[in-house]
Amino acid sequence: MLISQILKDKPTQGVLTVVPGTTVGAAANILSDKRIGGLIVSQDGVHPLGIITERDIVRELGRRGSVCLEDKVDDMMTTALVTCGPGDRAIKVLQVMTEHRFRHMPVVDGDEMVGLVSIGDVVKARLDELGSQAEALKNMIMGY
Ligand code: AMP
Repeated sequence: MLISQILKDKPTQGVLTVVPGTTVGAAANILSDKRIGGLIVSQDGVHPLGIITERDIVRELGRRGSVCLEDKVDDMMTTALVTCGPGDRAIKVLQVMTEHRFRHMPVVDGDEMVGLVSIGDVVKARLDELGSQAEALKNMIMGY
């Protein structure tokens, strides 16, 4: 299973981004409204500058309290982004996410972001794939 297939199967296309200068509180509102775990920070929607996730916000809330909601996302985002490409295999992307202990990966084609996959998207795709393989094997054994 390729990342391009996972992107195609996602119920919503595109990547939700916020521009630099957005407050952490506004980003938290979007995460809550859209029921997602991370946002890409980008000026133009296609060139990612960083990522801010619920984990970053909770960490700072725990350390400094709600005053951190007034910070700009620029101060809290991770800028050393690890990305994948549409032609990468899902299993490889899952390994990278597990090694780095994060759950989001922007998908970049050339120098443009074309999507974002979460660990949930990738695990679901792998389980669907394994389910289809098991069904095919069962049918082979049963002679269907
Ligand atoms: P997550 O598990 O995705 O909520 O992220 C855990 C930590 O890793 C947070 O500090 C994120 O900002 C950071 N992070 C998430 N995804 C990526 C990524 N693709 N590249 C680099 N850092 C990331």
